[in-house]
Amino acid sequence: MFIKISGKNIERTQLLLVVGWLILIVSLFYDPISTYLTQPDRLFGPSSGDLCFQFQGECQPFITYGLGPRIFWGMIIPLIIISLLTFGHELWRSVCPLSFLSQIPRKLGIQRKYIIHKNSWLGRNHYYLQFALLFIGLNIRLLLINSDRLLLGLFLLLTIFCAIIVGFLWDGKTFCNYFCPFACVEYIFSEPSGVFQLETDTKKVLPMSQSACRKWKKMVAKLVIVLVVNPIVLISIQKHPIGLKLSNQIEH
Ligand code: SF4
Repeated sequence: MFIKISGKNIERTQLLLVVGWLILIVSLFYDPISTYLTQPDRLFGPSSGDLCFQFQGECQPFITYGLGPRIFWGMIIPLIIISLLTFGHELWRSVCPLSFLSQIPRKLGIQRKYIIHKNSWLGRNHYYLQFALLFIGLNIRLLLINSDRLLLGLFLLLTIFCAIIVGFLWDGKTFCNYFCPFACVEYIFSEPSGVFQLETDTKKVLPMSQSACRKWKKMVAKLVIVLVVNPIVLISIQKHPIGLKLSNQIEH
């Protein structure tokens, strides 16, 4: 569907998203606008004449807050998920600002162009690496960066830095294919295909190599077996007369 949009427009959109994302990151360190907008009776502030709110019987003063983390977690991430569900990962990969930033060394002509071989450790284990990075990232989010603007800003800068380093060392879209933890999320939300995804993108014989976001199929299938099917099978066995008999014998 969106293939009708010209490559130039896609590039412009990507550039716009890069600029928007960088502005958001800057706002996590310095943001006088949010302070103004979240004051009482302003656009995003509470509308109360008391200038305080009741909390456990006490009148607590309203405090202004930065909108950056709310925009990032509450608007940007859900919009990416919606785009994955509707257009598959095809659209997102074309406009992803992180993917664009990882390609800066190539655009500057300073890329080292190392290649990751399929039989190398990384070639064989990158699914596990990406999933481990996602797991670590989710824990960091829950424990540290969810509502802390400064830490979220540092975390995003570190992610961009890592993407650029990978883009500097390796050829092609190595960051997307071998390192980006979001690739597994993309697979889960965009497979077997988005609602408006192009037929050509899901054909078995493909004229071009496909991204890692699609290669997660096997890995996710394994995880589903381990996390979902196994417990279901165990519960079914336990409920079966033979299973009940066996578990009774084990208990005694
Ligand atoms: S794999 Fe990561 S960097 Fe690549 S398009 Fe997806 S989110 Fe962006």
